[in-house]
Amino acid sequence: MIEAIELEQAEITENEARSVSATAHCRFCKASLRHTFVDLGMSPLCESYLTADQLNRMEPFYPLHVKVCEKCFLVQLEEYVSPEHIFAEYAYFSSYSDSWLKHSSDYVDMISKRLGLGPQSLAVELASNDGYLLQYFVKKGIPVLGVEPAVNVAKVAEQKGVPSLVKFFGRQTARLMVENGQAADLVIGNNVLAQVPDLNDFVGGIRIVLKPGGVATLEFPHLQRLMDENQYDTIYHEHFSYFSLITAEKIFAAHGLVLFDVDEIPTHGGSIRIYLRHVEDSSKPVTLAVVNLRERELAAGLNRMDTYASFAEQVIESKRALLELLIRLRREKKRVVGYGAPGKGNTLLNYCGIRTDFLEFTVDRNPYKHGRFLPGTHIPIHSPERIRECRPDYILILPWNLKAEIVSQLAYAREWGAKFIVPIPMAEVLD
Ligand SMILES: [Zn+2]
Repeated sequence: MIEAIELEQAEITENEARSVSATAHCRFCKASLRHTFVDLGMSPLCESYLTADQLNRMEPFYPLHVKVCEKCFLVQLEEYVSPEHIFAEYAYFSSYSDSWLKHSSDYVDMISKRLGLGPQSLAVELASNDGYLLQYFVKKGIPVLGVEPAVNVAKVAEQKGVPSLVKFFGRQTARLMVENGQAADLVIGNNVLAQVPDLNDFVGGIRIVLKPGGVATLEFPHLQRLMDENQYDTIYHEHFSYFSLITAEKIFAAHGLVLFDVDEIPTHGGSIRIYLRHVEDSSKPVTLAVVNLRERELAAGLNRMDTYASFAEQVIESKRALLELLIRLRREKKRVVGYGAPGKGNTLLNYCGIRTDFLEFTVDRNPYKHGRFLPGTHIPIHSPERIRECRPDYILILPWNLKAEIVSQLAYAREWGAKFIVPIPMAEVLD
């Protein structure tokens, strides 16, 4: 009897130990995570749009508690939900944004010229989505392969003539590709690095699949911009990591890859595109752009813990300002609706507690979302035509990174005097 009790206690202790060791260490360097970057409370998975018959059911909420590693300064979220669960049926189709398509086509022109890619080359994109980018290589006669874990979006890519391997990328997939003669001259990863739970396995895979003289380019939101501009709404469960240049350099160096060039680009509120090569390939020297950005990050204090500690208060102040504006407008009986149903909107609305009491509905160009509801806040999503019918007084732009594009698409709303609101860095009504 006593033995049995002891055994049970031992099991509990072991389970607790497992959950601590699985969650409380840095995704890259394995140091203990002891410092909060920002705590956005509990939120549902931001891509879990609900149908009408799901509205009365329980909805899972998970913490959005971001930590920062005191050793390597990687800002990160614990893996609360398995990636298989998140990405199996992903609602995000890259091709629904005009400016994103233009960005991709410009990139393909630039990189094919810079690397001299042709019919003998292979361009591989990790998380190739619906083929929004690789399609432009196909048009130039450059062979491509997409790696995409979501079955439904990979199918759309195949229809565009973009061959897609339906898999999560890591060392194992990379070895398989090399065995199949699919080593890459160019590896592309746009907005995927943040979404990788096993960072070391993913970066190790790039090292394996990249030919000796090959180049990898990765784009991801720049942590310095996130902090400077209160972009707390870009934090969601699907984004496990948030990178500065100095931290990215450390991570790739640990896997034998040199970060030799960097572009600062406007996408997703301010991103960087980094260029990587094998450490053995000395034909590509590290550029001045890398040296300059590294110096700017050090001057901004991104290698000091006190810089990270001050972010949370900025976020709370931004929330207060948005609520103040919405409360005033609703007291004045103004009609306020949303534009867009992006993941970032869901973080923002849940964190700020904005439901149909403040925002009657939102609209989105993606037909998958029409007739559905935002997770957590249950705000209905309609097609953009609804704005013309309802003639609201104010339109809150949730994908603020596309604000110029959206304001011009909705120019007709000025006819009845509608005004636009952007929620961050501080809530603002646009003139
Ligand atoms: Zn670390």
